[in-house]
This record gives sequence, structure tokens and C-alpha cells, in this order.
Amino acid sequence: MKKVVILLVAIIINFSCSKQEKADLIVINANIYTVNDNFTKADAFAVKNGKFIAVGTAVEIQKKYVALETVDANGKTIVPGLIDAHCHFYGLGLQQQRVDLTGTKSYDEVLERLVTFQKEKQVSYITGRGWDQNDWEVKEFPTKEKLDALFPKIPVAVRRIDGHALLVNQVAIDLAKITVNTPFSGGDILKKNGKLTGIIIDSPMGLINATIPKPTIKEVTQALKDAEKICFELGLTTVDDAGLDRKTIEMIDSLQQAGELKIRMYAMVSADEKNLDYYLTKGISKTDRLNIRSFKFYGDGALGSRGAAMRASYSDQPNHFGAMIFDMETIQNTAKRIAASEFQMNTHAIGDSANHILLQTYKEVLKDKKDRRWRIEHAQIVSPEDFESFKTIIPSIQPTHATSDMYWAEDRVGSERIKGGYAYKDLLNNYGKVALGTDFPVEKVNPMLTFYAAVARKDLNNYPKDGFQMSNALSREETLKGMTIWAAYSNFEENEKGSIETGKFADFIILDQNIMEVELNEVPKIKVLQTFVNGESVNSD
Ligand SMILES: [Zn+2]
Repeated sequence: MKKVVILLVAIIINFSCSKQEKADLIVINANIYTVNDNFTKADAFAVKNGKFIAVGTAVEIQKKYVALETVDANGKTIVPGLIDAHCHFYGLGLQQQRVDLTGTKSYDEVLERLVTFQKEKQVSYITGRGWDQNDWEVKEFPTKEKLDALFPKIPVAVRRIDGHALLVNQVAIDLAKITVNTPFSGGDILKKNGKLTGIIIDSPMGLINATIPKPTIKEVTQALKDAEKICFELGLTTVDDAGLDRKTIEMIDSLQQAGELKIRMYAMVSADEKNLDYYLTKGISKTDRLNIRSFKFYGDGALGSRGAAMRASYSDQPNHFGAMIFDMETIQNTAKRIAASEFQMNTHAIGDSANHILLQTYKEVLKDKKDRRWRIEHAQIVSPEDFESFKTIIPSIQPTHATSDMYWAEDRVGSERIKGGYAYKDLLNNYGKVALGTDFPVEKVNPMLTFYAAVARKDLNNYPKDGFQMSNALSREETLKGMTIWAAYSNFEENEKGSIETGKFADFIILDQNIMEVELNEVPKIKVLQTFVNGESVNSD
């Protein structure tokens, strides 16, 4: 973990002989992009009670205010705290509770990682993924004896890198009540000399999976804290979690109330029947750190696996169109119910058919409603005639999806339809704003990669040389707005965050390079030196 450079300088000031107003924190000598309406720059600001109380020049600020703490930014760049408008924050946290075994060079190394992991995390059931016996000197499936010796009481079930084989210990086998006589069809339960080896392949893996418990309260808490730590290190101060259940949302709320979780969250509630019934009755609710006023709904699948719903056949699979996840009646009824409330509807739509259907549905149910700010999540492949519908619907897009998919996206949709693919500038030109996010942990968390992908439309190996469909690149200013003020707008929070302006929450980050002027290929390497939420430094050492 990177050590955070502390720029904090405490200056003791004699308050008794001062006529200046008191602030909690003053920041001076900074290169501040305020991201206000005129995209004005500043070099100092003052913070009190978690909010910016003045923004301007160092002379102005220091003349008017005294503070117990003054941060001299040494000319470093400061931007508003970044917002990820579409991510899976809790999912990222849960991922930290599983062992990552990718890249292990031997079975012993797998065992070592398991031991190290458990020492730190103390989970009740060890799960993980990533081992591959083909990378080992002995290219045979491992057997469970050493695993049993190391973990005689805690169940262990770790998947091979492809997800098609499971290595388990005896505790896990006993929990699943598997014996040498357990029947199964498809796959295999490997045996040697009449004994179970601990390797289970494909379908009988379900027997084990059914016994893996839901995470405990302690594990959920740890997951949320682990995710928060990662986000703060990378400069995210608000995350829009795209799909949470009531239990998790309530857990987040109580951790925030107790001061144990400081990140601000926009919780999109998973739009299943149970959640809809509960939250539509309860109504929208908000604290300074948690905003519950939206539902996450699923239109279709993903493009890579050809699950995205297309209006015409896939270019690389004749007579295959992908599919919508729900029938039209469910889609329309869900939209109608949400439209009748104050909630926002945010729907995953990747294929041009999913986008078309959702845009039409939104239009129909919102026709008499004002300022509902409903969002399409991803808006990945859009038919030319549908762009216009984005004049009233917010595109919530993930620039790194473009640079992850660009290698094969055209194979899926062909040379015509790809022109309406990852068309961020066209979407921006219609709505006037875009909300930018990552979809982590599907993509990497680092928002600098989002910035780079949006502006350069290249991967980290400088491919393609001239960028992918550059007519749809965003400018740096548009990108920074998409990661701050426009993302805040997409959450109905533009009056309280997203820019460094008087009256807003003092959420800001200090960068080691000027993101607006540094060579573009340096952007992915930019480090966040310090992250502030509510005027408070939130980095751990
Ligand atoms: Zn997502």
C-alpha cells in the first residue's frame, strides 16, 4: 500500500488578538479546479463544519480567516472529491474477503496465501479463486491432505482459475455431506484409492456452493471498510452502488451513523419485488452520507457473452439476438410503479434493443413528469435514431468499458452498429451531461483510468495508436465534470457536492500532477496524495 504524503501543517495561531473569522481548515498555495459553472480556478479555500465557507486567493482567504490547521498544498492540484456514478462498492468489499490465488506457482504457494489470508481476515468459511495447476511444476490436480492439516476446523473451497474445478478440504466436504457414494450427473468428484481427493468438477460443485454461508455481520462490516479504504486511496469520496438490498443499505447507514464508515453513498436499491414493496412504501430518504432515492433495474445481459439484447442478429452469431431479462409487462409495470413515486429508475441497458425498449418505456411513463433524472446505465450500443431520446434521459457511462471491449466489440455488432457504440460524445451532446463511472470490480477502481479512457480512448499499452473512435472522445473538462458535478447531478446532489464552492461539502483531493495539463499518457500514473471528506483527511497510513 502506498504511503500517503501528509501535507498537513498545523499552525498555532493566537486567536485572542485576531479579528478574523475562525475556520476549521484553510488550504493555500493550491492549483484548484473548482468545477463551478465557469470552470474557474482558485488557489485557496476555507472549511468550517465540513463545508467550504470561502474559495478564492490565498490573500483573500488568509485575510478573512484563521484556522487551527492550514494545509500548504505547495502548488499541487486540487479537484473536487471524485464520484463513481456506477460501481459495485459492496461487491468490491466482498471480493476482499475472498482469497486471490491467481499467479500462484505451486500448491505450496496456494497454501501459503490461504494461511496469510486467514490470519488477517479470520473468515468463517474460506473461499477464493485463481489457482491453476498448469502453472505449477507438478501439473496435476492437488489433493486435500495438506489443506486438511492446515485447516482442520475451517471449511475451505477455492475455485480453479476457470471456475470449473473446486479444491475443498474435509470440513467443507462434511458440511456438504459428500461421500464417496454421493451420486451426481455431469462433472466429477475425484477419488484416489477409494478416497475423496478434494477436487470437484462442474455440476457437483453445486453441492458445496449450497453450503457456503452468507457473510456474517462482521464480514459485511469488514467488506465495506475494505472497499472504503481502496476508494479513499484512489480519490473517490462518493460511490453510487448499482444494486443493493435493504439489509446491506441498513448496515451501511448504521456504520455511517456510528462514524465507522465515512464514504458518501448513493444507494441504488435492487428493483426486485420485495425491495420495491418496501422502499416505495417508505419513500425516499437521505442523510449527509447516504441517499436512497433510486432503483437499479436490469434490461439485458452483456455484450462479451452475447447476452446484450440487439435489434438485429449478432454479427458474429447468426440468428442470435441476446435477450431482455424481463418480459415487457414486467418492465412497464416496474417503470410505472417507480414513476408514480419520487424514486429515480436506473436501468442496465447494453444492446441497442435494450436501450430502445427502455428509452421508449421511460418516455411513456414519464410523459407528464418533470425533472425525474432517470438514467440508462451503460448505454453501450445505441441505434442512430435513439440518441435523441437521451435529451431527457441521463447517460450513465463507463469509459473503461470502451477500452476493455474495443478489441472485440466490432466483431459482435459489425462496422455499422459500432458507430453508435461507446458513443460518449454523442450522448453528451444530447443530454448536455454524462455521469461517469467504472462498474468496478468488473473494471479497476482507479478513476484516473476512467479519465484516461474517456479522453485518450486507448489502453495502457497505447493501443490503438490514434485512439478508438475518437469522434466520441470527451475533453478533459467534460471528463472531470462527468466524474464530479455531473455525477452529483445524476444523484440529485449538485447543490451539496461535485464542485469546490461555498456551502458545499468539503470533499476534495490533492493530486501529485495537474490532471488537466499533464501529458495525457501520464494521467493513468497520477497519484492521489490525500483525500478529504467533510473537511477531514480520510487516508490511513
Ligand atoms: Zn454494474
